[in-house]
Amino acid sequence: MAEETIFSKIIRREIPADILFQDELVTAFRDISAQAPTHILIIPNHLIPTANDIKASDEKALGRMMSVAAKLAQEEGIAEDGYRLIMNCNEHAGQEVFHIHMHLVGGHSLGPMLSKNR
Ligand code: AMP
Repeated sequence: MAEETIFSKIIRREIPADILFQDELVTAFRDISAQAPTHILIIPNHLIPTANDIKASDEKALGRMMSVAAKLAQEEGIAEDGYRLIMNCNEHAGQEVFHIHMHLVGGHSLGPMLSKNR
């Protein structure tokens, strides 16, 4: 069984977070270390450690993550200029918290999608 992360505590409101949206499937809150003027994390309420662990039965929550991202982008006023949705998986992508999360980042021009430096 996968181990809970700090994100489960945020979902249960056991530790503080700037929660912007929560329903029966997903929770969205501001990233504690924002990398852009808008930096929000959108997560499923049930624990899925990495993108590799996604099952067909998770599709409803994953779809909700996408529609909540679009709604929050509108609310943040960044929808028209644009934004980026990112999900990191495992070591090569630098995943740090093993409860899948979609980063919604925007608020200024984000530059090329991937760093050219390796
Ligand atoms: P990743 O590298 O894709 O796993 O991203 C993890 C993200 O979680 C980072 O951007 C962190 O700043 C963010 N993070 C970690 N702990 C918290 C927290 N308690 N509240 C909000 N964001 C967090």
